[in-house]
Amino acid sequence: MTNTQSLVKTLDFQLNIQSDNEGLLYGACLEARSVYNEAIRLAKQDVDWDDITSRVADDADLVKNTTQCIVAKALNAMESYYEYDDVGQPSHTKDGAFPLRANYEEGYNLSLTGGGTVAFRVSAKPYKHVKGILKGADAHLDILKTALTSHEWKIGTAEALFRNGNAELHVNVTNTEGTVRDKEDSQTVVGVDVNEDNVALTALSEGGVEDTVVLEFPDIKFERHRYFTIRKRVRDAGKLSVHDTLEGREERFVRDRLHKVSRHIVEWCQQFERPCIVFEDLKEMRDGLDYGTQMNRRLHQLPFRALQFYTSYKAAFAGIPTAWINPEYTSQCCPMCGHTERANRHKKRFKCQACSHQDHADRSASVNIAVKGIKKHQEWTVPALNSLPTVRTVRRQASGAVDAPAVTHDTARGYQTDGVAGVSD
Ligand SMILES: [Zn+2]
Repeated sequence: MTNTQSLVKTLDFQLNIQSDNEGLLYGACLEARSVYNEAIRLAKQDVDWDDITSRVADDADLVKNTTQCIVAKALNAMESYYEYDDVGQPSHTKDGAFPLRANYEEGYNLSLTGGGTVAFRVSAKPYKHVKGILKGADAHLDILKTALTSHEWKIGTAEALFRNGNAELHVNVTNTEGTVRDKEDSQTVVGVDVNEDNVALTALSEGGVEDTVVLEFPDIKFERHRYFTIRKRVRDAGKLSVHDTLEGREERFVRDRLHKVSRHIVEWCQQFERPCIVFEDLKEMRDGLDYGTQMNRRLHQLPFRALQFYTSYKAAFAGIPTAWINPEYTSQCCPMCGHTERANRHKKRFKCQACSHQDHADRSASVNIAVKGIKKHQEWTVPALNSLPTVRTVRRQASGAVDAPAVTHDTARGYQTDGVAGVSD
C-alpha cells in the first residue's frame, strides 16, 4: 500500500475591504447564488451540461471565468447526487449570498505589500474590483506568503463569502513539491506532546520505543512573560502605539522560534522508517486545566496550535503524514500498565499509583499519544512496553551569544544532538 496524496490546504482569511466596497462584494455573492440556481435548474431540465455555462454566462453579471467556476461547482453537486443515487437533488431555490468562486489571477489576485501584508483584489463584477488587505492567523498568512514568493505552493481557486456578516476569502493552495505518504502506511509513529516550554517526542514502532527526546525552549515562555509585563505597563500609561509595536515584535519572536522548533521536530522524525507524526487535537482542553488569568490563557494558548501547524506543513514538505488524536487522559495514563488517574502526574513527574512506574511526565504523555496514534491509524498492534530508553533533553536558545550547550546525554542513538543543541540558526 503506497498511496500518496498531494497536499491541498484551504487557508481562511478575513477581508479588510477598502472604502465602501463591501456592498459590491455582497451583490456579487447574490449574483453567484442566482448563477448556481440557474445552473442546477438547467441541469435538472436535462440541458446538455456542456451548454450550461454559455447559457448562464450570457445573463450573469459576473466575470466570465468566475461564472464558469460557479457553474462547475453546481454541476459537481449534481454529479455527486447522481453518483450516490440520493433522494432528491441539489436545491435551486435557496436565496442569500453564495460563495463567489474564482480562479487565481483571473477572478481574483493577491500580492505582497511593502509592509509585509497581503493585498487582495477580487473581481466582483466585470471591471469592478473589491480591494483590501487579508487578515488571518499567522500560520495561514505564513503559507500564503510562502506561496506568493516560492514555487513550493501553487495558489488555486478561492471563494469570497460572508460568514456571520463578515467578508472572508478561503484560498486553496497545493504543495507542488511532493506528495505525502498515507498515514496508514507508517512503520514508526511519533507522539508529540507540546507544552508551553518544551516538546516531548517519542518514536514507537512494532519493536517498542525507538527513542525519546525533549526539546526545551524556555526562552519562548520567558520572552512572552517579559513582553506581557512591558506591554501592560505601556498600555496602562496610555501609550497604545508602543503597545502595538511590542505586540508585533513579540509575535515575530515567538513565530520565528516556533519555526525553528518545528523544523527540529521534523528533522528528528526523519531518522525513522516511514514515520507518522501524531498530535493531540485541542490540547488546551486537556485535563480541564483552569487557566484563570488572562496572562495564563494567552501564555498557554499560542504555541500549541501554531507549533502543530508549522510542524505539520514542514512534515508535509518531507512527505511525512500527520495525524490527530483525542487528548483525553494522555497525561494521566500509565504507559506501562494502563492505569489512569489524575494523581499519576505531579508537575513534570509521572508516578503510577498502581505499578510505581516513574518517568518524565511529558515523555509519558508523548508515549500515550503515539500509542493512540497507532491504534487509530495503523494495522499493526501496539508493542508491550517493558522498558523505556533514557530521555534526552535538548535546549535551544535564541541568540548566539548566550548559547550554552544544553544537557545532552545518552547519544547512543543515531541522532546527533551535538550539532543541534544551542545552535543559533
Ligand atoms: Zn502503571
